[in-house]
Amino acid sequence: MVLYIVLFGPLVVALLVYLLGKIRTARKRSRRQRLLSAPVSDAWRQILAAEFGLYRRLPAALQRKLLGHINVFLNEKILVGCNGMEITEQVRVLIAAQACLLILNKPGDYYPGFQTILVYPETYVTRVTRRDGALHSESLDVRAGESWQRGPVVLAWNEVLQGARDSRDGHNVVIHEFAHKLDEQNSAMDGLPVLSSAAQYQSWAQVFSEVYKVQQQKLIDDEEDVIDSYAATSAAEFFAVVTETFFEKPAQLQAAHPQLYGQLQQFYQLDPLQWEPPD
Ligand SMILES: [Zn+2]
Repeated sequence: MVLYIVLFGPLVVALLVYLLGKIRTARKRSRRQRLLSAPVSDAWRQILAAEFGLYRRLPAALQRKLLGHINVFLNEKILVGCNGMEITEQVRVLIAAQACLLILNKPGDYYPGFQTILVYPETYVTRVTRRDGALHSESLDVRAGESWQRGPVVLAWNEVLQGARDSRDGHNVVIHEFAHKLDEQNSAMDGLPVLSSAAQYQSWAQVFSEVYKVQQQKLIDDEEDVIDSYAATSAAEFFAVVTETFFEKPAQLQAAHPQLYGQLQQFYQLDPLQWEPPD
């Protein structure tokens, strides 16, 4: 008997773990299916129509799809108010809608690896410590949002609302921080998200490194571009910033950097150029 336990015990445990994993995945899939097709409150539609410029530009089929994703997202993520911030239905729906816009046609596992979104009423100040050799410095940074690798997303509500309302200024803090979340899904936050094929990795590397170099030179030369100069600070920021530009200034991005637009169109499986023009 003891011999059997020694020989087969680990095998039985491994099998049980495997089966439990399968059951959990099947339950999650069926819960998501139910939430995707469940009717949503009219209040959500009213909030989105009134406050989210990009929602108004979406074709009706994509609007319906977005509402389903919002339902799943809000079921799985936890929004926590900081510094007295009250998490109202408007806060929940507008954050979820902007985050889910990126995964509209490829929801994957709904931003796996983290659950919490911290919301401050306004831009917040954070203490940053930097070490460069023997030099140890501290400074106070004012932030609109941030994304911790495998950790929470932090957002300032005044910036979230401004980003939702203005759909054509190229700035959207929720889109920016959730692009970082897509980026980290292959472990490193390095501007290279998970792609679908070896060929896509190759063309992505070529196009992104070319435009990134151009942006860095433009930053040095103090030259303007449709892509905000913050993109030139790192490869990770480049991906997050061009994502904001792709959704909010698609025509300008396509005209200035058609190959980059094509890569993002393929990655997000969306073509914002086809949506209603901004109002
Ligand atoms: Zn960033």
